[in-house]
Amino acid sequence: MSEKPEGYVNLDPEHLDASHIKTQTKATQIPPAPTQAEIEAANIPEPTELRTPMAQASYSRLDYYKNCPLAFKFKYVDRLAPLQEPEHKDKFGNVKPPGWQRGSIIHQAMDDYINSRTNVLRPELYDLRFELNEARQLKIDEPERILTEQNKFFDFDYNLIDMDALTDDEKGVTSAGDPCPSNYHVLVIIDLLIFNEDFTHATIVDLKSGKVYPVKHAAQTQLYALFTAMEYPQVENVTTQLWYCDQSGKIVAKDFTRERILMYFNFWHRSISRMHKDYKFLPSPHEQHCFFCEWGKIEHSNKWKNKTGNCELSLDKRDRI
Ligand code: SF4
Repeated sequence: MSEKPEGYVNLDPEHLDASHIKTQTKATQIPPAPTQAEIEAANIPEPTELRTPMAQASYSRLDYYKNCPLAFKFKYVDRLAPLQEPEHKDKFGNVKPPGWQRGSIIHQAMDDYINSRTNVLRPELYDLRFELNEARQLKIDEPERILTEQNKFFDFDYNLIDMDALTDDEKGVTSAGDPCPSNYHVLVIIDLLIFNEDFTHATIVDLKSGKVYPVKHAAQTQLYALFTAMEYPQVENVTTQLWYCDQSGKIVAKDFTRERILMYFNFWHRSISRMHKDYKFLPSPHEQHCFFCEWGKIEHSNKWKNKTGNCELSLDKRDRI
């Protein structure tokens, strides 16, 4: 699995060719940051005292926080309930499950197939059948070399938490209902982790449904590679592979030496700490982020999101003068 597959793309930030990334908002349309008066007029609730959600980082939380700290507060600190998303239908008129639900179904199907709980491959995974069969065979022949659907929890010193060593009082459940330590700092979710024969090379596979978001997905796998290198001191090289089941089985891979991936520690530590220590949750309205944000003005609801109306700073292209 350490061979570079066909379609290998170098996603090193220094060499990333971003010319193919669509710009969704023209430079002239990016709104300025809100003034203090606008923030005050928006009637944002008083800062909340430090609570667990900010201390518990995962890639999705960090990404949500980076887009807009106020949206993060609504979702993870205040735990407001979003409205149901608008219904989507396929070309036959059947209601399609929301993207996140479809993604969970496909991930479960991949896990079941690799672990031989089923012999049936879902059509969405057909383009990845060679890779999946290879992984399935490895799971049969050398199960110690391949780990599936791993939720890894790290403490505040970035050491892996041994779930088996926790007492009942020290255990909790994640928002997805999975067991977790009641007190952890970082959660890393790895779909597939494959080692070479002498466990000095780790390949991290992340299955993606939907579109390719090169920068976001590269950042996510970079975080996973970092924590894998920290967890396994014998690992000298890490390869990350993004498997895009809806993009004809496209695979995007990147190789890191141990030395190289550990250089990203400070960057991620700062990102995690910034979220952890925030208590103001200042909004960062941006037309692109507000478009997909569920907490915007009700009249800004669109085909992807029904908005709750909690945020009066919501921006929408329909309001452009
Ligand atoms: S609508 Fe915009 S400014 Fe308001 S919380 Fe959402 S992303 Fe932030």
